[in-house]
Amino acid sequence: MALLTQAPKGTQDFLPDVTPKLQYLESTLLQTANLFGFVEQRTPTFEHTELFVRSVGDTTDVVQKEMYTFEDKKGRSITLKPEGTAGALRSALEHGLLNGALPVKVAYLTPCFRYEKQQAGRYREFHQFGVEMLGAGSPAADAEVISLVCQCLDALGVGDISLEINSIGCPKCRPRFHEALRQYFSQYKDKLCPTCLERLEKNPLRILDCKDPSCHEIAKNAPVVLDYLCDECGDHFTGLKKRLDAMGITYTVNPTIVRGLDYYTKTVFEFISNKIGAQGTVCGGGRYDGLVEVMGGQPTPGIGFAMGIERLLMVMEANGAPFPPQVTCDLYIATMGEEASVKASQLAADLRSEGFYAETDTVGRSLKAQMKYADKIGAKYTLVLGENELRENRAQIKNMKTGALIDASLDQVVDKLYEAVLESSYIEIAESQTLEFKE
Ligand code: ATP
Ligand code: MG
Repeated sequence: MALLTQAPKGTQDFLPDVTPKLQYLESTLLQTANLFGFVEQRTPTFEHTELFVRSVGDTTDVVQKEMYTFEDKKGRSITLKPEGTAGALRSALEHGLLNGALPVKVAYLTPCFRYEKQQAGRYREFHQFGVEMLGAGSPAADAEVISLVCQCLDALGVGDISLEINSIGCPKCRPRFHEALRQYFSQYKDKLCPTCLERLEKNPLRILDCKDPSCHEIAKNAPVVLDYLCDECGDHFTGLKKRLDAMGITYTVNPTIVRGLDYYTKTVFEFISNKIGAQGTVCGGGRYDGLVEVMGGQPTPGIGFAMGIERLLMVMEANGAPFPPQVTCDLYIATMGEEASVKASQLAADLRSEGFYAETDTVGRSLKAQMKYADKIGAKYTLVLGENELRENRAQIKNMKTGALIDASLDQVVDKLYEAVLESSYIEIAESQTLEFKE
């Protein structure tokens, strides 16, 4: 029976105490992306397995160990998306977005699925916010995308996150680097994990990203990619740094970042927090100039990033970042008797159509229990409807904080509440003085 009351390992429920935070976070991210011209794109939760094998790369941990792959009823191999870029590009190609004005700029919020060991900040279903910019190959595009991450973090009030950048070169300069890596790692064949032994021939860069402690230790002294960049990649990296400096974005160059997906070229970057434990990478991204072509499109440069929503929320909470106040009930209408309950339903409907949050009894509680409930949900105002009120067509709206009473005819409740709410919000503003208005 436990299966019926326990979510699968590595998944989590987001309950009503957290979802308002997520909604705020997600809308802030999308709105910030809009300021840079990125517009939301939604793609399916599953794609053909081949799409990820080809784009993410068949020597990556994601493809080799982490994908949720199954056959559908017609024997097609289907995979729940482990990341957002492949689907975003597939969609852009399928719908000819690249034939329009470049760059194409899309943003997305998506669930992702990876069969990983569950840890704090590491789940089997998690969520990403990401963007992709296609058709822009200059370092200005890299700077813009990185600056978007900074602006998102700023808008959410998260400081204390460090940016690390690196360049992992292009197909022109990479063979020389791969050769150097092969030579280096060949000395440690007996200490590499079996997966990395295979990678040694096929894709030695991947060894740098292996989580196995022994491989990780050996990788520390491996050749550094920045020493092998061709002129074009070197200039590109310099161009990016120049722009980050100009924008006042602080960063460190970390030559060990290679990223876990095969499609990256040139710039790669990570935003890291040291406040949420071992899984501190909140955002990862980079350039993938060969990917569109791998997927069957015309050669088209691209760059993007993905941010883990769960980790972002953890960082916000660890940093004490502000969240909007909880929405509380404007008016609770307590009732006595059937007729009053009918009237309350009508009043509540009127209030809601004017944008108020109104509640009335739907459980059949006593008046005392209704008032207790109103208190529990933090209702700002209450109104009691009984026989007298109905007969006289008047009731009193009570301010629960001050106890002040407002006399209103039942046809005026909406107007009176509107006046009262307006007045009390003026008072609150005057009292706090710290409330900031965002346009
Ligand atoms: P890590 O090194 O932590 O495994 P990654 O390199 O696999 O991360 P990406 O594929 O770049 O991660 O995904 C981008 C972001 O998505 C990460 O920076 C992280 O915030 C988030 N993320 C990745 N995997 C998970 C997961 N299993 N659970 C929660 N968030 C995740
Ligand atoms: Mg990973």
